[in-house]
This record gives sequence, structure tokens and C-alpha cells, in this order.
Amino acid sequence: TTTRCSVVVVGAGFSGLSAAKLLAENGVEDVVILEAADRIGGRVRKEEFGGVSVELGAGWISGVGGKQSNPVWELARQSNLRTCFSDYSNARYNIYDDSGKIFPSRIAADSYKKAVESAIRKLRNEESNHDADLSVLAETPSVPKTPIELAIDFILHDFEMAEVEPISTYVDFGEREFLVVDERGYECLLYKMAENFLLTSEGKILDSRLKLNKVVRELQHSRNGVSVKTEDGSIYEANYVILSVSIGVLQSDLISFNPPLPKWKTEAINNCDIMVYTKVFLKFPRKFWPCGPEKEFFIYANERRGYYTFWQHMENAYPGSNILVVTLTNGESKRVEAQSDQQTMKEAMEVLRKMFGPEIPDAIDILVPRWWNNRFQRGSYSNYPIYINHPLIDDIKAPLGRIYFTGEHTNEKFNGYVHGAYLSGIETSKALLEEMRIEKEIIGENEAFL
Ligand code: FAD
Repeated sequence: TTTRCSVVVVGAGFSGLSAAKLLAENGVEDVVILEAADRIGGRVRKEEFGGVSVELGAGWISGVGGKQSNPVWELARQSNLRTCFSDYSNARYNIYDDSGKIFPSRIAADSYKKAVESAIRKLRNEESNHDADLSVLAETPSVPKTPIELAIDFILHDFEMAEVEPISTYVDFGEREFLVVDERGYECLLYKMAENFLLTSEGKILDSRLKLNKVVRELQHSRNGVSVKTEDGSIYEANYVILSVSIGVLQSDLISFNPPLPKWKTEAINNCDIMVYTKVFLKFPRKFWPCGPEKEFFIYANERRGYYTFWQHMENAYPGSNILVVTLTNGESKRVEAQSDQQTMKEAMEVLRKMFGPEIPDAIDILVPRWWNNRFQRGSYSNYPIYINHPLIDDIKAPLGRIYFTGEHTNEKFNGYVHGAYLSGIETSKALLEEMRIEKEIIGENEAFL
């Protein structure tokens, strides 16, 4: 079957839906949204676990309380989203060693300060690296070696780079972060958005322009239009396509382009790093961890960097839920994705027994999201080296004829965040609307001429 429309939006995450909404608001109603999964939301996804709703993907609204208002925070307010303020800064004072002792706060603070200074030096070195200036060698930052140094290096680099370099999200929108703890899930913001331009009823999207389970496999493009082919054999002929799939999907072979993408485009896509970030949820029959003020986050220091390092209890969010979350990244995420959940539970229990003693109860349930192995994601979010941001992102987002690229990875200031995805959709649709306006003018002129 062949369907004709003016624009096909590929992907119904935050960026795809915000792009479609802006088009609708500007009179482009003839849009089809093709989503590979059986649900909207993409990397915003909740699941029921241990009696509560947990967020497998984005969990926080980052960047609140500053001069400018974060648009995702605005959506949250309109939806009465339940959130909980998070203060990571105390995590460094809750660092456990292998024998269950907490490092004295002075030692932790000193190590933290050293790690920040070292990270700043490393960054400066990388920035000036192109000159290969030998004097830089004298400044070589120290390499973290001890368990506490490794633990701090991990949380600094994989979570808190804001301590090292100003991050636009915090500079523009504020430094506060709120954990989403709403039974409806973070994704209810998308349903709220959808109400404005799609046919919905009782929280469900009924609009036939949104098509779920449609895996796009091929984009055949020319000067005249784009033909979009899906895995189930459907064809959509459109004047334009907005492609919102993740950088990981662009790096994979899920979607083929005909003619193929030019070299500058594939090079830019392949040069973007992908962060894999995994929240492993564990449910217990009772709690055995401290729950007082400033105890929400805690750290396990081990000689292996990133090995079950960063922990959070969910008692502030859902009192009595008896759930712990441990965050893994990159190599550890991939390793854990490849093994059985039983094995992961065993490893996590060994670590917890080192911190809290042998008598603690076994976990009764585990949830391990697999963002790396999900062929519609292939990772958690884009991770641009700070100093080569601009040209790379420009090439990744540059339209290719009638194909427009959007998504968190195309947002220069806020990549890696939900608001980055949301704002990228708006930016892409603005560019496309301008292109459509120019095309219309040219056609108008030609018709007048004839
Ligand atoms: P996506 O949400 O990935 O949307 C793309 C859509 O395209 C998906 O629905 C996908 O199914 C679909 N798709 C893929 N391939 C095809 C195909 N071939 N055909 C059709 N459809 C296809 N951000 C924050 O702000 N705060 C956080 O705390 C935070 N934590 C995170 C934790 C994790 C574990 C992860 C994974 C992400 C986190 N993020 C966080 C990042 C945030 O989730 C993303 O930046 C944002 O959701 C990306 O939206 P997007 O629209 O760009 O992409």
C-alpha cells in the first residue's frame, strides 16, 4: 500500500512529536508519524516494577530554577507532574569501601577537589592538543588509582561534568534537577503535548496519522520527494521527511538511504560518541540502607572503575517501596546487557553485602533495561567531546535534500537531554517550514510565469 502525505516524521519520541506539533500549528496537518515501537516516547519510558512506576530512560528534568524557564518543566507544571528534588552533591560523602566503612568526609572532599582540578587540566590539554605543545606534558593530570579516586573519577566524568565545564542546561535553565516520580510516567508530558494537535481520548492517542509498529527501513530520496519504506512493506510518499531516530540508529544499518548518504554525513554521524547509561532496579523485602537526610545517593569504591559504583534509594520518591537503583555506564552497561539478569543480581548482591554486611536479604526482583541492544535505540544518548562540538553537530543536523534530521543529538546546546530533544524538534520544523515557504513561492512564481 502507498500513502501520500506532505511530511513523514520518523519516530515518536520527544523530538518527533514536538516537530509534528509545530508543523500542525503552522497549518501542515498532512503529516504521518511512523514509530517503530508499539508505543510513543522512545527513550522516555516507564514500567511497573515492585509496585511503583519506574523510569527506564530519562528520569530527571534537569535545569530548573534559573533565569530562563525549561520548556519541559513548563510541560510538567501543566500536567501536574509529581517530582522530587534531587541533590547529588552529598553522594561524595557517602562513599563506602570494601569493608563497609564510609570514607571520612574530609578525605572524600579532598579527593573530589583533586579530581575536579585534574579533570580541568585534562580538558585544557585536550583543547590545546592540536598544537602538540610539549609544555603541556608538564601539566599531565594524575591518573586515578585508588578505589576512592576511581569512584570519584567515575561520578565526575559520567555524571557531573558541570563541576568542570559550564553546561548550557545549568547555565540557561538553572542548576536544580527534579526526579520524575509520577505513576503516569514522564511520558504523560508527551500525551499532554499530543492533546494539542492529535485526536486523543482518555489519555490515548486515536489519531490515524500516528502509526505504531512501523519500522522504517529505507528512504529513497530525490529532488522531487522521499519514498519511505517500512519493514511490513508499506510505502509512504512524502514531500519531506523529518528523521528523529537516535544517533545510535543512524550509526547502525537499520535504515538504508538511496542514494547513500554522502561521506561528510556518515563521517559526522560515526564520529559522535554514544553514551550507554543503565539504571538497574532491585526490589527488596525490607530496607537495610540509611534513609536519613542527605543519604539518597551513595557510592561503592572498588578497584574496578564503574563497577556498581553509583546507587540511589527510592524512599524519597516512593516511601516503603524498598527499591534500590544502581547506575552503570558504557562498558559495564554493555557487559550487563549481555548477561542474564540473575547474574547481574548476584553481582549486585555481592557488592551490597560488602557495603552493608552479609546478613542483608536477597533482592526479590530485578529490572535491567537494555538500551544498547534495542535496535530502535542503540545507546542512551549522544556524547560530544566538549571542544569539537560545533562542526560535528552542524554536519549531523544538516538536511540532505528533502530529509531533515532532528533529535537530542542535533541540539548543540542541550544534547543528551529531554529538553534538548524537545527543542530540536521545534528547530527542525522551523527550518522545514521556511523551506516549504520558499518552495511555495517558487512554484507560485512559475505558475504566474506560465
Ligand atoms: P527518541 O526518544 O529515541 O525517539 C526516537 C524514536 O524513533 C523512538 O521512539 C524510536 O523507537 C523510533 N525509531 C527508531 N528507529 C526507527 C525506525 N527505523 N522507524 C521508525 N521509528 C524508529 N534526559 C534528561 O533530560 N534527563 C535524564 O535524566 C535523562 N536520563 C536518561 C537515562 C537513560 C537511561 C536514557 C536512555 C536517556 C536519558 N536521557 C535523559 C536522555 C533523553 O531520554 C533523550 O535525550 C530524549 O528522550 C531523546 O528523544 P529523541 O526524540 O531525540 O529520541
